[in-house]
Amino acid sequence: MKLPIFKYHPDPIATESIIESDEACLCCGQVKGYIYSGPVYAEEELAEAICPWCIADGSAHKKFDAAFTDEAGIGAYGKWGSVPDLVVEEVAYRTPGFSGWQQERWWTHCGDAAAFVGRAGRKELFAMGEEAVLAIQNSIGLVGEDWNRFLQALDKDGSPTAYLFKCLKCGELGGYQDCN
Ligand SMILES: [Zn+2]
Ligand SMILES: [Zn+2]
Repeated sequence: MKLPIFKYHPDPIATESIIESDEACLCCGQVKGYIYSGPVYAEEELAEAICPWCIADGSAHKKFDAAFTDEAGIGAYGKWGSVPDLVVEEVAYRTPGFSGWQQERWWTHCGDAAAFVGRAGRKELFAMGEEAVLAIQNSIGLVGEDWNRFLQALDKDGSPTAYLFKCLKCGELGGYQDCN
C-alpha cells in the first residue's frame, strides 16, 4: 500500500516519523503496516497509535481533537513569517510532525509552511551542500571558530541537532537547531 502524500512532510519514512508496525490504528482500527511515531497533542495517549492514512484524511484530528505539530510552533511563535490558517490546519492536523529535543518549530517562508526535510547533523548538512550548511548557520548566527565548534558537535541523532526545511515556493533551505 502506498503511503498518502504529505505536501509538508514529503518523506516521513526517511525522517522516521512514520515507521513500519503491526499495531492496529486506534482511529480506524486497522493494521495498515505503518504507524506514526512523532509527537501527538491530544487528551488521549496516542503515541505510536495512529496510521498515516488517518492523519492524511483528517480523521485522527476529528476523532481525538489531535494535532501533530503545535499550531503556534508553525512560524516559531511569530518569529518567521505567518501563514494562512488553512496552512496551519494542514500542517498541524493532517501532516505527520517530527520529534525535536525542545518544542518543535516549523519553518515558514514565502507565506507558506515549508516542507520538512529531516533532522541533520554535520554529515547530513555537508551531504546536502553549502546552502544547507548556511541555512543552519544563519539560523543560529554563529561565525568563525564558534560556528566551527558548533558544526563539529552537530549530530542527527545527538545534540545539538539541526532541523532542515525546504520552501515549497522558492526552494530555499531553512530551519533551526536545538539541543537537549
Ligand atoms: Zn488509521
Ligand atoms: Zn520561499
